[in-house]
Amino acid sequence: MGSTRRSFVKQSAEAVALLAVAPLGCSRVGPVKAPMGEEAMAWEPGYLALARSGELAARAEQLWEVLASCQLCPRRCGANRLAGEVGVCSLTARLKVHSAGPHFGEEPPLVGRWGSGTIFFSNCNLLCCFCQNWEINHRGDGTFLGIDALADMMLALQERGCHNINLVTPTHVVPHVVRAVIRAIPRGLRLPLVYNTGGYDNPEVVALLDGIVDIYLPDFKYQDGEVAAKFSAGARDYPEVAAEVIREMHRQVGVLAVDERGIARRGLIIRHLVLPNNLSGTDRFVRWVAAELGPGTAVNIMSQYRPEHRAPGMPELARRLTHEEWRQALAWAREAGLTNLVS
Ligand code: SF4
Repeated sequence: MGSTRRSFVKQSAEAVALLAVAPLGCSRVGPVKAPMGEEAMAWEPGYLALARSGELAARAEQLWEVLASCQLCPRRCGANRLAGEVGVCSLTARLKVHSAGPHFGEEPPLVGRWGSGTIFFSNCNLLCCFCQNWEINHRGDGTFLGIDALADMMLALQERGCHNINLVTPTHVVPHVVRAVIRAIPRGLRLPLVYNTGGYDNPEVVALLDGIVDIYLPDFKYQDGEVAAKFSAGARDYPEVAAEVIREMHRQVGVLAVDERGIARRGLIIRHLVLPNNLSGTDRFVRWVAAELGPGTAVNIMSQYRPEHRAPGMPELARRLTHEEWRQALAWAREAGLTNLVS
């Protein structure tokens, strides 16, 4: 990626905060109108058909009910978030957003010319000890917003010409997202949703997103449950869960499809951050992708790991990758036969 997610957050914090607290005030950061070709105008995201049939409202209702005994992710805390209780993600049913804005550091098919319309949700259900955005995901920096404000934010990103609505860490706020999409549709929302997740999702919830999400962007962080438990707050079942949800995502949207401009419209891109000492199990990951999903699956194998948050105090994670580790990761990908590496 051209610039990291962390640098994007830091460099644009002031500008994007304007979108977060006053979505329609984005003129202060210079609105940009992107031209839309005929083909782009003809295409429509899946959620519009579901809205017309009434199915989108039914799904939103189903998802909202989950908040009463939260099972939105595999932690299955059972917290009544509607009543103000919190689970591992530390968030009640109140929506909290850190920032939003066009992001040019994501994968090229998401960025295009006008950027990916990124919305950073506060808090997280996975809580990796090496989190690059720990202030947002662990500390919960952000602003409480209503559903209408989130809808405003999506429309403001569309107005600026962004190619998609990129929902960063959405797992614990899926019901809010779907409600906001419903509010935004009558006002003209027609960008594809990018579900940009750490990969620790409830497969049943992902099944409810069938037809709502056009582009899935999951991480697949670990292949070993003990490693996942140690570095992601006890998530020992991460490898099995992530494999199951990614299979379901692939079933729903298939391989990555782009339009005549090379902009992603539908499909799956898997992110894999290579960790020092192969804690990420990169050799197993690439073999799994090739065998389970096919060698043409879009995969971003990422080299930019650096020790953040609590990682500097953990010997296995306290350094960046070596050149040899990175070279080996790419060699494993080639040996597995992966043919669609994006970065
Ligand atoms: S989304 Fe939060 S409260 Fe719900 S199950 Fe996951 S960690 Fe627990």
